Amino acid sequence: MPRIEASVGNEATNRDDDVRIVQQLLNRQDLAPLAKLKEDGRSGPATVEAIRHFQSRCVGMSSPDGRVDPDGRTFRRLAGGSGERGTGQSPETRRADRIARAERVDPRVKENGLTTAIIDRLVPHLAGCRARIISGYLSDTDLFWKLNYHWEYLLQMVDHSLNLPVDDRFAKELQTLASGLRACAPTPASGYTSGALGKPEDRSTLDEVKQRHRSVSSAKASFKRVIVAGDLKAKSRKAAHAFDLACAPVAFPGTSKHGSGYALDIEGDNSSIKSICNSHGATLVFDEQSHVHVEFRNGVA
Ligand SMILES: [Zn+2]
Repeated sequence: MPRIEASVGNEATNRDDDVRIVQQLLNRQDLAPLAKLKEDGRSGPATVEAIRHFQSRCVGMSSPDGRVDPDGRTFRRLAGGSGERGTGQSPETRRADRIARAERVDPRVKENGLTTAIIDRLVPHLAGCRARIISGYLSDTDLFWKLNYHWEYLLQMVDHSLNLPVDDRFAKELQTLASGLRACAPTPASGYTSGALGKPEDRSTLDEVKQRHRSVSSAKASFKRVIVAGDLKAKSRKAAHAFDLACAPVAFPGTSKHGSGYALDIEGDNSSIKSICNSHGATLVFDEQSHVHVEFRNGVA
């Protein structure tokens, strides 16, 4: 079976030899309507597009990331394997695993090779527990976008709270929060909570992003206090979860472990999720109220 040393494609290491192997393997596939790739060992847009095409058509990934990792599903499938783990399994078992996976994993979750391996092994352990994986691998670009998602969502919840019957002093605090957030808006200033992952693209400078991260983090802490002091959850018709999500911490882009591929966000029955992850090798389990953030630095035991 062919091997690659490092990742190939979108946001990957792209060693010449590895790229050439992936190009050769892709050219053995029927990639119509795409043209055959030049086997030149250089990963450009055509190679990434062919990888995405293969991932969505042959690997069954709903959000193909255009990247091939040495130990990932895409490479196993490209190199002639079934792409599934556990070769001794019957087709029925594999089919059942696929259905279980589809039920447990939000279609917007992005994966790299590490994420795929962790999800494949974790999903069977989640059986019988209310749990859904809502976030996995995020590229740096996604992480910048995620800050804007939090910015916009928080602002929406603060605006929503201003329409609730709250005491004047809380209304004043909420107004201050809203105007503070509006003062550090991304460009464009809306569409992040309604769009797909990564859309729209923000044109802010790095300094503006840093400023926004500081403002969002402190606004989240203040909002959390007002929610309790002003009894906002009881006054709103929104689920308590909607308020918790607004207060959930957001890491500065580049510092989140989601960028490495071994972190997952799982929503559902938090206490069951925590104990399942703890007993299967999680290296960090953190209850963020709206979901549980878990890290499997050493894989799933
Ligand atoms: Zn997380």
